Amino acid sequence: MERYEIVKELGSGNFGVAKLVCDKNTKELFAVKFIERGQKIDEHVQREIMNHRSLKHPNIVRFKEVLLTPTHLAIVMEYAAGGELFARICNAGRFNEDEARFFFQQLISGVSYCHFMQICHRDLKLENTLLDGSAAPRVKICDFGYSKSSVFHSQPKSTVGTPAYVAPEVLTRKEYDGEMFGPVESPYM
Ligand code: ADP
Repeated sequence: MERYEIVKELGSGNFGVAKLVCDKNTKELFAVKFIERGQKIDEHVQREIMNHRSLKHPNIVRFKEVLLTPTHLAIVMEYAAGGELFARICNAGRFNEDEARFFFQQLISGVSYCHFMQICHRDLKLENTLLDGSAAPRVKICDFGYSKSSVFHSQPKSTVGTPAYVAPEVLTRKEYDGEMFGPVESPYM
């Protein structure tokens, strides 16, 4: 972590705390998710790293590297300076159809790429949909902590995600199609 200088805390989640850091050499900004070493480093963290690192798409927060500090595992990734889409909608009150389309098209582009790569996110929500800092913001899907790869792992059947957004078939506890739609052709291969 010596290469990075901590700028500020971005927020904390279920697994740990996210911080904004600056690369001392290049002055580039990155977000780092710190997860305490020990019991918290479980199969979800392992999957998060395995799945996230394989995804390279303009609408997915780019994974950079994983580092170990004496106390934490640190996942270094692209910094999405525009915050959560959730906050943007709350501030706007509502989006008109053109704005909604602008964001939704980017969202499904990122999701369809994940499915093309045989990875289901399983916790898609406005809080995990970040924006970059540009005037016409680019959507950046983040947090692959609940993701599942049908290459590395089995068919999804566990009840995961965020209760308020869970799909009915997930709650019935049968095996479900984490993608909902089949793989599609991707221009990013
Ligand atoms: P959780 O998703 O469990 O709430 P995270 O550790 O993923 O927790 O994120 C904590 C906070 O940091 C959230 O508010 C999130 O918006 C923010 N955050 C996470 N990753 C990034 C990133 N790459 N760029 C900017 N902010 C981020």
